[in-house]
Amino acid sequence: MRHDAKKISVLGLGAMGTAFARAWLDAGYGVTVWNRTVGRAEALVGEGAEVAATATEAVRASGLVVVCLLDDASVGEVLADTELVGVDLVNVTTSTPGQARERAAWAGARGARYLDGGIMAVPPMIGTPDSGAYVFYSGSPELFAAHRDGLAVPAAARYVGEEPGSAALHDVALLSAMTGMFAGVTHAFALMRGAGAEVAPKEFAGLLVEWLAAMAPAAYGVAAQLETGDYTLGVTSNLAMMVEGNGTLLRTAEEQGVSPELLAPFMALMERLLAAGHGDEGTTGVIDLLRR
Ligand code: NDP
Repeated sequence: MRHDAKKISVLGLGAMGTAFARAWLDAGYGVTVWNRTVGRAEALVGEGAEVAATATEAVRASGLVVVCLLDDASVGEVLADTELVGVDLVNVTTSTPGQARERAAWAGARGARYLDGGIMAVPPMIGTPDSGAYVFYSGSPELFAAHRDGLAVPAAARYVGEEPGSAALHDVALLSAMTGMFAGVTHAFALMRGAGAEVAPKEFAGLLVEWLAAMAPAAYGVAAQLETGDYTLGVTSNLAMMVEGNGTLLRTAEEQGVSPELLAPFMALMERLLAAGHGDEGTTGVIDLLRR
């Protein structure tokens, strides 16, 4: 059966699936939706979506099927009994790279072309031009080429290779960096709640954002060191100096009555690296300490 290229089925109408479905509706696509809790489809029906009674029916309705569920287990559950031969299946449910690879093999064995996606946005950014939202995609290059225009409607589409786990790996690596940043921001605010802080949280937030943005390009320095294998390349703040500085950070935390537990793990790794004789490097060597 040939399908209309402007027809898309969306399975999963949580906050994210709903935002995706709405973006396609707004762009004039014919959208069929399915959700386990039927009531969540109501608003979209008012906006022109068709509702499928079952996941099987939703998969049959369109050549492009987008799945946005809670986790990989729910994807397995929802698609367990659906016929996937000839289907182009795009799974934007957050998963690990290993789960994505297994899901790709699973879909391939059922006759579907498969693309895995990692969404770099929150729902209000979806379908909002210039919001900076994008989705990493990896898997079937043929599927991506066939649907790239449609996929780019809710958020920009960044294809990161045929290896199906690649999108999830990019996604999780960026989220992990974000987690570290949130830890730093949390510690900084905790310090500023203590004695002697006269700056309002909002004003301090401005300073934080400015400082983090100024420091973020340090990632390019790490990349250059990894690419050359020379961890002393371009070092402006060496490890020996930084470990010394950590003492000041820790003493300040103590003075302000703040637990050092968010900083301590990274500082311990820096000390191990210094003890191994890398005082003239930066922190790039910590990457090698982390890799087991
Ligand atoms: P929600 O919690 O809002 O929605 C979860 C969806 O999964 C609902 O449609 C729910 O159905 C469905 N679901 C859960 N378990 C099952 C199951 N066993 N069988 C059938 N359906 C099931 O989550 P979001 O929409 O926010 O997230 C969806 C995906 O998008 C996740 O993988 C998330 O990590 C990812 N994502 C979300 C972001 C966000 O900011 N929200 C950001 C980036 C990625 P029901 O309505 O019946 O409960």
